[in-house]
Amino acid sequence: MVECMAARLAVQEEQIRLLTKEISGLRDGLTGGLDAAGIAVTSPELEGLRAENEKLRYRLLHLRRGLQAELQREEAQGKEGQAVKTARPPEKKSNGIPQRSNRAGSRVSTPEVKPGDKNKKEKKQEKGQADGGPKELNPWPDYIAERLRLYEELKKESDSLLAAKAADSRPIVVELPDGQKLSGKSWITTPYQLACDISQGLADRAVVSRVNGELWDLDRPLENNCSLEILNFDSEEAQAVYWHSSAHILGEAMERFYGGCLCYGPPIENGFYYDMFMDGQKSVSSSEFGDLEVLCKTVMKDKQPFERLEISKQTLLEMFQYNKFKCRILNEKVSTPTTTVYRCGPLIDLCRGPHVRHTGKVKAMKIYKNSSTYWEGRSDMETLQRIYGISFPDSKMLKEWERFQEEAKNRDHRKIGKDQELFFFHDLSPGSCFFLPRGAFIYNTLTEFIRDEYWRRGFEEVASPNIYNSKLWETSGHWQHYSENMFSFPVEDDVFALKPMNCPGHCLMFSHRPRSWRELPLRLADFGVLHRNELSGTLTGLTRVRRFQQDDAHIFCAMDQIEIEMKGCLDFLRCVYGVFGFSFQLHLSTRPEKYLGDISVWNQAEKQLENSLNEFGEPWKLNPGDGAFYGPKIDIKIKDAIGRYHQCATIQLDFQLPIRFNLTFMGKDGDDKARPVIIHRAILGSVERMIAILTENYAGKWPLWLSPRQVMLVPVNPSCEDYAKRVCKQFTEAGFMADADLDSGCLLNKKIRNAQLAQYNFILVVGEKEKMTNGVNVRTRDNKVHGELPLSEVMARLTLLKRSRCRNAEEEF
Ligand SMILES: [Zn+2]
Ligand SMILES: [Zn+2]
Repeated sequence: MVECMAARLAVQEEQIRLLTKEISGLRDGLTGGLDAAGIAVTSPELEGLRAENEKLRYRLLHLRRGLQAELQREEAQGKEGQAVKTARPPEKKSNGIPQRSNRAGSRVSTPEVKPGDKNKKEKKQEKGQADGGPKELNPWPDYIAERLRLYEELKKESDSLLAAKAADSRPIVVELPDGQKLSGKSWITTPYQLACDISQGLADRAVVSRVNGELWDLDRPLENNCSLEILNFDSEEAQAVYWHSSAHILGEAMERFYGGCLCYGPPIENGFYYDMFMDGQKSVSSSEFGDLEVLCKTVMKDKQPFERLEISKQTLLEMFQYNKFKCRILNEKVSTPTTTVYRCGPLIDLCRGPHVRHTGKVKAMKIYKNSSTYWEGRSDMETLQRIYGISFPDSKMLKEWERFQEEAKNRDHRKIGKDQELFFFHDLSPGSCFFLPRGAFIYNTLTEFIRDEYWRRGFEEVASPNIYNSKLWETSGHWQHYSENMFSFPVEDDVFALKPMNCPGHCLMFSHRPRSWRELPLRLADFGVLHRNELSGTLTGLTRVRRFQQDDAHIFCAMDQIEIEMKGCLDFLRCVYGVFGFSFQLHLSTRPEKYLGDISVWNQAEKQLENSLNEFGEPWKLNPGDGAFYGPKIDIKIKDAIGRYHQCATIQLDFQLPIRFNLTFMGKDGDDKARPVIIHRAILGSVERMIAILTENYAGKWPLWLSPRQVMLVPVNPSCEDYAKRVCKQFTEAGFMADADLDSGCLLNKKIRNAQLAQYNFILVVGEKEKMTNGVNVRTRDNKVHGELPLSEVMARLTLLKRSRCRNAEEEF
């Protein structure tokens, strides 16, 4: 290793010598007795050469430092004993700071570097054939060494500042969540050290800490008396930190592999991504994922520490001058005089942090997707390449995640919707679904279910217009805040728009004649068709559409009726979600900082919401300050069969809309200007989206009542076909989705198998015997055989199971 390095150094020095000579020669030739300095500024070639020379000098410096460190280690090892083979790769040794710069230095200082030889530099080559390392650019892009040089200068300054503060250290008290108090030293003690004191296991599992409520690097010294919490991967916030740290690893690999300009690298729901701008027409190919993963793995193995450094905006603009995107972030997003960068290995990234301690904390990583995107999502800006990844502290968790992805892919509602012929989309109306007969059956069955409940629960269904004069939207406030999401068009001398929600229309219904307290609560339900102009690029299957219907209702009630109405709403949703088999989470969102209206009204309403939640008996959480400016709300998230959460239902109080529409009623006390409150509520939410969720939840195995294929009649031979047709007709007349398989070219077993694969809940086989006795032979899609039964009995049982919306009729039959 040392020999190799020394050889590189020798080559490098020779190059420098030659370069210096070349430059002197060039300058002599150019100047020819003229003022050298004057020529220098006017000759770009010479400037270029000088810049190259500068860079080479820095590389040489790094290489020398590296060699020195290497020699010291060799020496230390020699002392430890001769038994250990000396020539080990540097990656496996110390992971201190010099080691990192050493790595970076040694990479960029390969013999191929020749001034001005741009083409060769940009060519991708196998790195170090001798050690068979990962594929990456050789040499690395120039900006890496340049950035590192500036960083190291600043780091030195910052280290001495920190050392000065540490010298002035005073005792501090650190309080743990359980109230336990630990003592530490300001500017010296780190959360990681305290975690180690508590238990090594805790310290090993720690991802990040929380100091006085703020997420904090584990190795960042504590500054004052504080509260401290150690977070591991189980915490959602720590997970975000973990994935965000992983994005840096991916970013480092992307710089080393593609050499472009990194943009944003945030954590997302499923891991993280990093965006990169690549010059010219270059783009990422999924065939490169393997090489990138190998590179990420070497970064992880390196255990590169995440170093935090606070730097002035001005210096950062210099550090990132090669990258216009980071400069944009600095100029547009950073309003403070200083901000932080973080370093891991050769990557120095503009980032607020915090991160995990070092790249070795990431144990398993997978790159799973790439796409192209625009800078900040704006189609008039630069095209960027986005690479998605996911990571875990344990390879078993990655395996589990991969299994889950496979499962989710098989359940994708777009796939099942196609396989089961439920619906499709067409380019001529993007975002508006075509429901085929079997999909429409599901649609109508869902709305019928809600309708039945409306009937029992005192809701009154209305039908209201789809298009309104823009004056209505001005009154409701949509025109000012939502018009770009509305489809609008001229009608005679006015502008009209398709409704994006039903509420303003319902306000007109409330106000079309005087109202009395005796009429309240007035619960108006509407399945009206809604349109929202979503960007075509964001439309995905049934989860994001332009045309949809909601099980929408507005409750107009008096202030003191809120609590009982909320109880009614909560009970309603428990009933509906119970039928689907969803468990759910409740969140109460209260008054935000910027609210409209009277604070006593807010307080009274929030108290009533809280009471109703407490009485409801399900656990709920508080999201303080998360309510809308016009009223508090309850958000409900349902959990599907594979553990994903979806927000569908909301119960939203509204104090403002009644004011905007000047809604009043005659109060009990004779006040003819009493103001109602509006409760907006929906349980399915968008019926379209609920169908997507249900399809994926059931994986296409619909419960009998909702199933678009309920009964299949299978005649044993052609002589029974008429009987099969007759029975099928009886089921259809009784409201079942029933079919008969009359394909005589198909064998009995094949027919049964086909019906099972098509997810018919019940398969009724009829032969000569059944024809004689007016019976059917019953089996299910899961091949449970219930045997021969009289048709009338089967009809009665299935009708009952369907009517009761039983979840597993096939078993309970
Ligand atoms: Zn970061
Ligand atoms: Zn509404």
